[in-house]
Amino acid sequence: MNERRGFIKDCLGLGLAAWSIPLLGAQNAAAQAKPAAPGKKLGFALVGLGSLSEKQIAPALAATTKLCKLTGLVSGHPDKAKAWAQKYGVPEKNIYNYQNFDDIKNNPDIDVVYVVLPNSMHAEYTIRAAKAGKHVLCEKPMAVSVKECDAMIAACNAAKRKLAIAYRLHFEPNNLELVRLAREKTYGTVKVIEASAGFHIGDPKQWRLDKALSGGGSLMDIGIYALQAARYIAGEEPKSVTAKMSITDPVKFKPGVDESVLFTLEFPSGVLANCASSYATGLNRFRAGAERGWFEVEPALNYVGIKGRRGEGGNVTEFDFAPVDHFAAEMDDFSDCIINDKQTRVPGEEGRRDQRIMAAIYQAAASGKAVAL
Ligand code: NAD
Repeated sequence: MNERRGFIKDCLGLGLAAWSIPLLGAQNAAAQAKPAAPGKKLGFALVGLGSLSEKQIAPALAATTKLCKLTGLVSGHPDKAKAWAQKYGVPEKNIYNYQNFDDIKNNPDIDVVYVVLPNSMHAEYTIRAAKAGKHVLCEKPMAVSVKECDAMIAACNAAKRKLAIAYRLHFEPNNLELVRLAREKTYGTVKVIEASAGFHIGDPKQWRLDKALSGGGSLMDIGIYALQAARYIAGEEPKSVTAKMSITDPVKFKPGVDESVLFTLEFPSGVLANCASSYATGLNRFRAGAERGWFEVEPALNYVGIKGRRGEGGNVTEFDFAPVDHFAAEMDDFSDCIINDKQTRVPGEEGRRDQRIMAAIYQAAASGKAVAL
């Protein structure tokens, strides 16, 4: 197996965390994941049976995951939950609603609560799940403020439960290849990063456009991928940020909900990252420019079909990785961390870092001044 394949296998093969900045380099310690007991998979309860749960997470738990399965449902819609229970073979006793959710503490079928709710509900359900003695996988963005992130981390620590943030691209081979090329300086030192993430948002009544539920706009929802890419390619934490924000549709985008944000991160080594986030148009590329060449993924963050390539002079080489179900990989990895008591590569602290930087980006856009981090 060549070096590149070995790196990717370690990153994805349910092994030790690989690309979280402090953990990069530890990938050789990857251990083969072992189920908790022969034939026993960890039980996951999904909180929020919306689009992501329906189209990505539940199908992955039903068909792809090796170390975990769907054993619980939390929903405000009893009929929907019942239909899901039948479809996925979840016992009706394992259906909860938002009022009786805390009773989940008495249910040994459920090891992990996966919070897939609007952003402003992440903190409450993470904390309640931890108090109920469950491990927590929480969707991105982790929360809507750093204070909430702190409370979530503290609750999981106090309960001695693990907390992971569902950054699925940490389990995606093309994105991992960007990290490898940057860390190994294959084309010399990375100098400039460009990272863009956006889509055209539809229904103006959805929670993503309601600040009370979303905590912000495109940056919190999709621009966070550009921020993540800048950080994992750079391999260091930004020291300052400047930003500009634009709203071209004031009917759809109310105060506090950004339509598009451009932001520049400055890293201590001098690397600059130029990033874009938008709810007005499709943006889908992460690219690194190094001393002697470049490497990129485009599309960068689709659920399927991510493609990457690298170039030097006139030579361009396409990456060639087998597709991976990001959600299955992240859930199996978290299960492995629980079963084998390992640290997740995407802990609450990683979500908190993004939250802190996003707050600084909003502050920089509002003030027109650079904000130190
Ligand atoms: P969605 O609107 O499709 O689903 C939200 C769910 O929350 C629904 O089941 C809804 O009934 C429930 N809910 C409970 N209380 C609610 C309230 N007060 N208002 C609105 N809905 C309420 O949203 P989604 O696209 O599934 O997103 C859920 C979470 O997943 C978000 O945090 C989002 O950022 C994240 N997400 C992550 C990815 C990814 O690739 N990792 C992709 C999409 C969404």
